[in-house]
Amino acid sequence: MRRISILGSTGSIGVSTLRLLDETGRLGEDYVIEALIGGRNVELLVEQALKYRPAITVLGDAAQWSRFRELIGNAGLAIACGEEAVCAAAGRKADWVMAAIVGIAGLKPTWAAAGTGAVLALANKESLVCCGRALIERVEAHGGRVLPVDSEHNAIYQVLDPSQRDRVSRLILTASGGPFLGRTREDLKSVTVEQALKHPNWSMGAKITIDSATLANKGLEFIEAAYLFDVPADKISVLVHPQSVIHSMVEYKDGSSLAQLGSPDMRVPISYCLAWPNRIDWQAPRLDLAARGTLTFAEPDLDAFPMLRLARQALEAGQGMPTVFNAANEVCVQAFLDRKIAFLQIAEFVESAMMRAQLPSIPSKDHVNRDTNDGMMISALDIDRDIRRLMGELFAESRLRA
Ligand code: NDP
Repeated sequence: MRRISILGSTGSIGVSTLRLLDETGRLGEDYVIEALIGGRNVELLVEQALKYRPAITVLGDAAQWSRFRELIGNAGLAIACGEEAVCAAAGRKADWVMAAIVGIAGLKPTWAAAGTGAVLALANKESLVCCGRALIERVEAHGGRVLPVDSEHNAIYQVLDPSQRDRVSRLILTASGGPFLGRTREDLKSVTVEQALKHPNWSMGAKITIDSATLANKGLEFIEAAYLFDVPADKISVLVHPQSVIHSMVEYKDGSSLAQLGSPDMRVPISYCLAWPNRIDWQAPRLDLAARGTLTFAEPDLDAFPMLRLARQALEAGQGMPTVFNAANEVCVQAFLDRKIAFLQIAEFVESAMMRAQLPSIPSKDHVNRDTNDGMMISALDIDRDIRRLMGELFAESRLRA
């Protein structure tokens, strides 16, 4: 019986994970739920808790504690509320943890889960972008393993032969191009929140959907790939592939390129992570290539979508710059969703933040690697806090100029 915790169970990835577990028909036989953690959606979290009866259910939003208690009633379930309780639940002993809280809010809980020795199915790419190899080293030091949930990295994980690493010439991340593929910078001046939220292939949470429209998501994935597979920026490239059928590729020096293909459904990479190192048998959506007909490819347009270029610069700069990129982007995405800034301003503000950021010195690798050391995580949270303050200043300066 494997104990499973889901951080972010009420989100798109969390719901897909629970759906997949239902579809395996093995819940209660092979799998039991240890922890379910949600943010603010108290109704859905309560519905999940009553259905799956986890050992603990935690709501991040402490302001809804009384409503949470009222809705759960006398169900005989352990519940808790607030950030500390989220981290405590994430750090409970489990065999498999899905880390799917969105954004920097996922960092502390993911870090806590990384210290449990569980297999960490990592959807919260922001944790990896901000902590880099330190997160992977923490997982491995505790006897666990990181398995990437992002479909691109999951694809590479499936086709990258660890014994042939020195024969790899390039990792090729595919990108759908998002809803604004083919648009020029000029076209993008007036795009709306509603248009940006309409992803052509994937159904996802709001933040990652906007990130897909700006290509910031591909930028975060670029950084994620570098840390996850320990490869430099010049060995990673991005290929636009609008159909999202080829999820990514590894190009070997002998001229072979290996790819993983599948329907654009997150349950496919999640099922790989769940069953690893085996494969499970479930009613997965089949890929009908004849029905698809044509697969197309193109270079990304870095003029219209500068976030990809900025992410690469952040990775090359290192020393906390990926955290700056992530924090500035997160603030800008929220400001765009709140209709306070325009679509193209997201990249403009992120670039300004990267130019103005004052970075503290990052703890040395040896220091970070010690089991109990949280240096990298704390340093990432410090940078994140400083950049949020800086973004307030940048927004205010821009209002003054307008
Ligand atoms: P959603 O916005 O759909 O879900 C986010 C989840 O995080 C929700 O359960 C939300 O709770 C929870 N949450 C947010 N803040 C807190 C908090 N402070 N404490 C506890 N829980 C919190 O996002 P997605 O599922 O789309 O994405 C999740 C992560 O997975 C992201 O990092 C994303 O980049 C990554 N990812 C997503 C993919 C996808 O297809 N969706 C693909 C690849 C990666 P609530 O809703 O209750 O407020």
